[in-house]
Amino acid sequence: MEQIFTENWATMHLGLIFSLTLAQMLVVYVLSDSYSPPAGLGLYTVYFMTALIGWITVTLQQSTSAPIGANLPSVTAMINSYILFAAAGQRAGIHQGRIILGVICLLATLSMFFLPSEHMVYAHCAAVTLFVGAAGALCAIRSIRTRNVGDAIIAYAALLTVVGLPVALYYLAVENNPSMSQTVIFGIYSWSFALITIGFLASVLIEYQQHLSHLATEDPLTRLLNRRGLEDALQVSFAHATRHGHPTAAIVADIDHFKKVNDNFGHDTGDQVIRFVANSIQHLCRGSDVVARTGGEEFLLVLPETDLDAARILAERIRAMIGEQPLHLDGQRIAITISLGVACIEGDIDLDHLIQEADQAMYLAKQGGRNRVASVENKPVRIRSTVIKEQA
Ligand code: GH3
Ligand code: MG
Ligand code: MG
Repeated sequence: MEQIFTENWATMHLGLIFSLTLAQMLVVYVLSDSYSPPAGLGLYTVYFMTALIGWITVTLQQSTSAPIGANLPSVTAMINSYILFAAAGQRAGIHQGRIILGVICLLATLSMFFLPSEHMVYAHCAAVTLFVGAAGALCAIRSIRTRNVGDAIIAYAALLTVVGLPVALYYLAVENNPSMSQTVIFGIYSWSFALITIGFLASVLIEYQQHLSHLATEDPLTRLLNRRGLEDALQVSFAHATRHGHPTAAIVADIDHFKKVNDNFGHDTGDQVIRFVANSIQHLCRGSDVVARTGGEEFLLVLPETDLDAARILAERIRAMIGEQPLHLDGQRIAITISLGVACIEGDIDLDHLIQEADQAMYLAKQGGRNRVASVENKPVRIRSTVIKEQA
């Protein structure tokens, strides 16, 4: 079979790089329009744009033998890899090392005008390895922190560069084969650029998907789970409780006369009160307890491996913490109380039934005069209601 377009391979390669980057940026910009822009978008955009300029200079050099300064692709590669480092830092929220690596980048760029051409490639490879290696480390940190495989792909691209450039130098210095050395550098840059393009797109898409899944399971006002998030979070502990016959308790908590808070202090203050109650509840719960906001001023707590008495003690603590310290918001003193219903079930868990029981108990607490805890024991034949706090 004949070789196709060998004389135009560099132009075709540029076309591929250009299309890939353009398609990726298009998707990223459409996405960033619909929710808050992804972190690091600005610097990554600069990186992709300068990288394209670098590829254009390389292509011109390869395909037309145009009289481009021999250093230009090297200079753009160094500046580019520094921009990649800065972009990765911005995306990871880590800004250390920017100035020192910036100074190194400046010195390395300037040295291109003084260094003899046979030494230039060493300076170029050393600088790029440093900047890309640092960018890879930042992406690896972010990928672990945010469980985002897109950043791991960029870290992998960086690893390829860090490992590949010494190989290129080996061909140059030891094997005395500059052509092979250039080929390796070209290959490494092509692969890693394609991987970075795909990695950034994947990172943004995964972030967007995580954002959507948060919206589906999280309450935006309090950052607590919503009912669906609660069910997802409880799957493992429910399976455990069913297998071992452990008790599971639920507490339904509802702010008393909350309408009056809204009427007297305004809806925004009402929101702050809801957030305060949410924080107080979460502060008192264990890590294994699951807390959700299930209605306007209503919260649901599910406590794995907790019996009725222990759940009532927790409910009483929550009641006391909220009811015994008036809240001071914007110079206003707001007294809040909360009514709580507690229920418990053993072994096999019917969550709806458990919540219904806790809800009933909460209504008993309301009927009993509010600012109290009531409990309903989840046994079909004997239903017991215990008002453990009487306060007018
Ligand atoms: P009770 O003691 O019987 O619970 O009386 P209540 O006034 O707290 O109960 P009700 O359910 O009648 O009123 C709840 C109020 O909560 C009505 C609604 O305007 C308000 N609300 C619901 N969601 C929000 C919210 O997100 N923010 C604010 N500020 N208010 C909300
Ligand atoms: Mg209420
Ligand atoms: Mg209510």
